[in-house]
Amino acid sequence: MFGYLIDMDGVIYRGQELIPGADRFIRELCEHKVPFLFLTNNSQRTRRDVATRLERLGISVEEEHIFTCAMATARFLARQKPNGTAFVIGEGGLLTALHTNGYSIVDKDPDYVVVGEGRTLNFEMVETAVGMILAGAKLVATNMDPNCPTQSGTRPGCGAIVAMLEAATGVKAFSVGKPSPVMLRAALNDLNLVADETIMIGDTMETDILGGVQLGLRTILVLSGGTHREDLPRYTYCPDIVVASINDLNHFQLVREFAESSTDPFSNRIGGSTTDSRVGFVSA
Ligand SMILES: [Mg+2]
Repeated sequence: MFGYLIDMDGVIYRGQELIPGADRFIRELCEHKVPFLFLTNNSQRTRRDVATRLERLGISVEEEHIFTCAMATARFLARQKPNGTAFVIGEGGLLTALHTNGYSIVDKDPDYVVVGEGRTLNFEMVETAVGMILAGAKLVATNMDPNCPTQSGTRPGCGAIVAMLEAATGVKAFSVGKPSPVMLRAALNDLNLVADETIMIGDTMETDILGGVQLGLRTILVLSGGTHREDLPRYTYCPDIVVASINDLNHFQLVREFAESSTDPFSNRIGGSTTDSRVGFVSA
């Protein structure tokens, strides 16, 4: 049984616009009961918010199909230190996930300073966080994405906020979101799939594809987001398949292609060319 981890921004939608074919592909997965999770490094929204946003774009899925880096971070912390405390730089998705996993939000002496995406940041919060980290609180990032594409251009991402705290304290953050195996392993567990049967679809080499390659997943890069075909030669790792967009993908065709190459999934990845995709499929 094959299943999917699917990035959203740049794969399913761009800004407020659905990428053509995304609704058809997801509908096929639902109809054939193929396991899948949407995996996002955006910690702002709760999984219900994300499901509603998808619904409005014409993709109808259950909340259980959404897995955010905020959820991954909260679950990770709950295992590391059950019922701990956190000072949070972030928004509703992160606060809700921490509460759901038994965490209290405090503004004094926290176990962790947890940083996610958001527009609520001000210098006072940064100063407070720096003091806490220097006093021994551990620095945790939901992800290290340096920026996020928006309707109007680019805004600083979680990684940019974390960089400021790291520079000020000399402490390196621990990041949970993609490409961290912490988030990807948690997603595989949720789906009850093994790496060799899991297909990661994403538009970003540094997060989606790197995370997938590190765990030994099957990887598909779509060029409908931030990555161009000309960018690929500079990476030491390459996706199994490169397509223009999700519109070029068909579940049963993918299963056939991947089932044939299942004997040694790593054989063409180590030291392989970074320019051609291993499986021909649809060229972008
Ligand atoms: Mg993306």
